[in-house]
Amino acid sequence: MRTSLLLLIVLAQAAAAQEAPLTREEAYARAAVTEVWEPVPPIVTPGAGNAPPSDALVLFDGGSLDAWRNADGGEAGWVVADGAATVKAGAGNLYTRQSFGSVQLHIEWRTPANVESESQGRGNSGVFFMDRYEVQVLDSFANPTYPNGQAASVYKQHIPLVNASRGPGEWQSYDIVFMAPEFSANGRVARPATLTVFHNGVLVQNNVAVQGPTEFIGKPQYEVHGKAPIRLQDHSNPVSFRNIWLREL
Ligand code: MG
Repeated sequence: MRTSLLLLIVLAQAAAAQEAPLTREEAYARAAVTEVWEPVPPIVTPGAGNAPPSDALVLFDGGSLDAWRNADGGEAGWVVADGAATVKAGAGNLYTRQSFGSVQLHIEWRTPANVESESQGRGNSGVFFMDRYEVQVLDSFANPTYPNGQAASVYKQHIPLVNASRGPGEWQSYDIVFMAPEFSANGRVARPATLTVFHNGVLVQNNVAVQGPTEFIGKPQYEVHGKAPIRLQDHSNPVSFRNIWLREL
């Protein structure tokens, strides 16, 4: 029995070894089976450096804040100068006039060079997706605070993997992939929102699941909603923003 099995194996190996090698044409024909030729991705011309790619929607290029409004729908009251928009304390949050769901967002920000206060009082602002889910903006350069509230945290939900902060007065960048939550017909969360964040080019949030709308007090709880504006926070600190663009996903 054992001998006959061995013989079978030997015969099979011999047969395999004798299989004629593929011709060039046969090899290409077999390789073609796993080639996918459609759909062809649309062409996008990338921007130089941090400049927006050709298919981006520019929300602020240093000129006007026309793409933004205040809470009442009126003109955005922040200060535009030297290619940047700076929080004017008391003018309130800014909201995009357009509503968005899932996006790739690029935004640059700068906390005041003149360091005042500490912890959450130092260069605080924030980028809220769908008017609800905050990626924290804060001067986190040698400024201890609770880590789930430092720069690049998903506020009170996810601590950034590392602290990639530049110093006060320096421009910094976020490149963010935000995926909107999905709700089933019965109002349950079918798929939570997710966030991937690069801070100054360093991965700091890796596809984390958002627990619900950002809360200062208490646990977040999802509510069913559709597309909504992106909000920039007026936290009374004169934080500046520039070069804001997105691509809807
Ligand atoms: Mg904030």
